[in-house]
Amino acid sequence: MRVSVMGTGYVGLVTGTCFAEKGHQVICVDIDKEKVDKINKGISPIHERDLEELLSKNIGVNLQATNNLVQAVKATDLSLIAVGTPFDGKKIDLHYIENVARQIGRALKEKGSYHAIIVKSTVVPGTTDDVVLPVLERSSEKRAGVDFGVGMNPEFLREGEAIEDFMFPDRIVIGGIDEKTLNILVELYSMFKGVDIIRTNNKTAEMIKYTSNSLLATMISFSNEVGNLCAAMGGVDVKEVMKGVHLDKRLSPILADGERITPSFTTYLEAGCGFGGSCFPKDVKALIAHGKKHGQPMKVLEAVIQVNEKQPQQILSLLKKHFPTLKGVRLAILGLAFKPGTDDMRESPAIPIIKALLERNAEIQAYDSVATHEAQKLFGNNGIRYCDNLAQAMDNVQVVILLTRWDEFNNIPALLADKDPQPLIIDGRRMLDRRSIRKYEGIGL
Ligand code: NAD
Repeated sequence: MRVSVMGTGYVGLVTGTCFAEKGHQVICVDIDKEKVDKINKGISPIHERDLEELLSKNIGVNLQATNNLVQAVKATDLSLIAVGTPFDGKKIDLHYIENVARQIGRALKEKGSYHAIIVKSTVVPGTTDDVVLPVLERSSEKRAGVDFGVGMNPEFLREGEAIEDFMFPDRIVIGGIDEKTLNILVELYSMFKGVDIIRTNNKTAEMIKYTSNSLLATMISFSNEVGNLCAAMGGVDVKEVMKGVHLDKRLSPILADGERITPSFTTYLEAGCGFGGSCFPKDVKALIAHGKKHGQPMKVLEAVIQVNEKQPQQILSLLKKHFPTLKGVRLAILGLAFKPGTDDMRESPAIPIIKALLERNAEIQAYDSVATHEAQKLFGNNGIRYCDNLAQAMDNVQVVILLTRWDEFNNIPALLADKDPQPLIIDGRRMLDRRSIRKYEGIGL
């Protein structure tokens, strides 16, 4: 099929590249000329495992990038909308969605044939039918369901595993205003064999995405709250508690041959310094706001956000136990991205923690194998020395604060071996074996 993808961020570029790899003819559209130029050279503007390889393989073959949305609409059969949907402090900010819908509508006005417009961005239930569709009708002066189709196809990829998630989806959710739109989406995904497909209306498709993200965020805040209680009580380690919880056979089923399955789901039931990223915080807040609009308070989700926003303070409290003042204290911050496998720092717990440390005049050396450039955009070079490798970051510091679960940080105990005195390790992700470290503090311990 001939597909255009509007927006070449984490979702748009992965979607466009993977559909090209699957054999569709794809045009990626972005207003950011720098991104478009990079993509056309086969360079990925973001860090995502295997993305650049797939991009350079397909660019100029099945894939191209452009700033020209009108031409892209005219040259394709369907357009996927993958622009950002930030939270504006009160509600979901739909201005990118509305703008792009208006631009697509204007292009449709000049197009003679049928076109399907599919929202892939995460939007609150009702947005596709009540916002996108009317904008498209007004700007195209055509009729939805007659001249064009409107659908909703939420994206479930996880940054850091985005290519794998896209190529081997656990589910495909497709919403549409009519059978014709739904059938186009079925064709779009026809090469994904054996995957469960949910065919539904747009509003349900939108709600499935929010419910999935809200559930995962709830599990994290739940675990963090339990961890905080363990720490407050003393004598209980949340890690052991959660291990006991994970072994419930409803969470980790035991097969007939006695083998136990440990689903990755349980990784959301572990205490840490909080969730971040471009999705969980904004999506949960958007659903809370949407609930209010509909007279339905979302009390559980309000608590999820409250717990999460306070969680970085746990790191500062652990630090305070050892260093009542931080002026001149030499600290290593390990991990800047909100999770491993990505350079995305949006809403990363590292941000409030670094801000608080800078305010208290601590001396920071930071290391993240891929997110340094993002941190430099946020903090500049003021007060932070960015290191090239883990050993350099851990050199001559009094405290090491681990904030992202990068695999590489499993080398910390080995790197500590020849240090005397050893720095205090504050494990914000509870990823290290505390018995292997002389001075250890962790969330929920
Ligand atoms: P992003 O901010 O990384 O990318 C958005 C892109 O859209 C930018 O490159 C921007 O320049 C471009 N853009 C904005 N207006 C445009 C226009 N009129 N025409 C063409 N391009 C335009 O966003 P993202 O992280 O890819 O997220 C996109 C959507 O997908 C959001 O709704 C998000 O909630 C959802 N989502 C994100 C993830 C994720 O892991 N990042 C996962 C699932 C769903």
